[in-house]
Amino acid sequence: MNKKGILIIISGFSGAGKGSVVKELLSKGDYILSISSTTRAPREYEEHGREYFFDTRDDFESMIDNNELIEWASYCDNYYGTPRKFVENNLEQGKNVILEIEMQGALDVKAQYDDAVLIFITAPSAAELKARLEKRGTESSDIINKRLKRSYEEVEVINKYDYIVVNDDLQKCAKDINSIINAEHKRAYRS
Ligand code: 5GP
Repeated sequence: MNKKGILIIISGFSGAGKGSVVKELLSKGDYILSISSTTRAPREYEEHGREYFFDTRDDFESMIDNNELIEWASYCDNYYGTPRKFVENNLEQGKNVILEIEMQGALDVKAQYDDAVLIFITAPSAAELKARLEKRGTESSDIINKRLKRSYEEVEVINKYDYIVVNDDLQKCAKDINSIINAEHKRAYRS
């Protein structure tokens, strides 16, 4: 019988470089990314169905009502959620599925999928986080401050994660995560 894939949850402070790390993992490893739904407006370079499904609040709320999301959370005034079908179908087919989601959703998923692997990505320092967000230039200073404030609130939950990885070098960070997943595949309870 086909072995089930591993559900990998990646979270991290805004500006920690999660998106780049995930891209690196997808380009080099055996992973598939779950595309979330969100009510946030697309950034200039983003496309519906590629970075996110950009939905209205009404659409999002009906997905919640119909139990079509594994988890959802409100983050800085917008909804974000993980479509259930895609994740479950791919895990069944033995694929390693990555969710790049914030902490509240991550803990919700862990409560439902006990063998999910929770990985937290952080930048080397708080100053570096702020600098990266400003350099990215996709958010106003008001939103950057909101995101940093949220990061400070998140600190207390980090110890609920299985692994904490510092992203001071993109390639190295992705390599570390690859090693974690390879080791997870060898855990006795998965065989
Ligand atoms: P951004 O607006 O920067 O794309 O994402 C904001 C935050 O929402 C990030 O921490 C990201 O990981 C998180 N996020 C993205 N998709 C989901 C999702 O489906 N569920 C949850 N809970 N968080 C998500």
